[in-house]
Amino acid sequence: MTDKEIKKKELEEYLAQSTLQINGAECWKCGKLMKMALVFSKGELYGPEEFNEEQLELARSKGVLIKSQDAKTSESTYLANTCPACGAFMGKFFIHDYLDGTGERYKLD
Ligand SMILES: [Zn+2]
Repeated sequence: MTDKEIKKKELEEYLAQSTLQINGAECWKCGKLMKMALVFSKGELYGPEEFNEEQLELARSKGVLIKSQDAKTSESTYLANTCPACGAFMGKFFIHDYLDGTGERYKLD
């Protein structure tokens, strides 16, 4: 198979199953490497703000720092991937940049 065919096959597999991905990311604030988690489930992509307990536990057990952050636009808090070096958190709109990045993948039920 060519690289392109492998990519296509991987994409089809993503669409058919639920996967937790843990990818390496460069912190936007301090530039250090951090781990971030995302879930790609049946075509839907989301970050820790929508993880269930099982997904949170899995991500945390793999070394991802997920902390509750204040949302500037409301009084509520939400969970976000957080840089262990400086405490900056990754906004959910940046999650998309890391889909299919280099990292670990775990199948979800
Ligand atoms: Zn940082």
